[in-house]
Amino acid sequence: MLKKIDNLEKYLRDAGIKPSIQRLKIFEYLASTNSHPTVDKIYGALSSDIPTLSKTTVYNTLKLFQKQGIILIINIEDNETRFDADVSFHGHFKCIECGGVEDFPIPEHGKIEALVDYDISEKHFYIKGICANCKKIINK
Ligand SMILES: [Zn+2]
Ligand SMILES: [Zn+2]
Repeated sequence: MLKKIDNLEKYLRDAGIKPSIQRLKIFEYLASTNSHPTVDKIYGALSSDIPTLSKTTVYNTLKLFQKQGIILIINIEDNETRFDADVSFHGHFKCIECGGVEDFPIPEHGKIEALVDYDISEKHFYIKGICANCKKIINK
């Protein structure tokens, strides 16, 4: 679950990010949704609000956020990058019918024996399939 952030400016500053209006808006949008949007989606949602915004800015801002550890990049598909403001360890399920990506909690994950002496920098848990909603439609 995404933790509630009371002071967005402080949150960015604490992560070593200068909180410009564009950065605040981009993070605010990402933190407000659990749809794991793409750059296109984020740009589309904000461009009318911030006429000076470009897709490149959105992309570069997201790369910065990831570098500073306040968002996750999700690469379930090679040709589709999505973003998540919830940096707690959780799994992602992608439905191959509707294209939706949802979160699921990962039960008790102990240490992986073979990797105990390694430094882990990223952990990803992806599952693909057909979601319950799509299954219902298909089985009609
Ligand atoms: Zn689906
Ligand atoms: Zn997620």
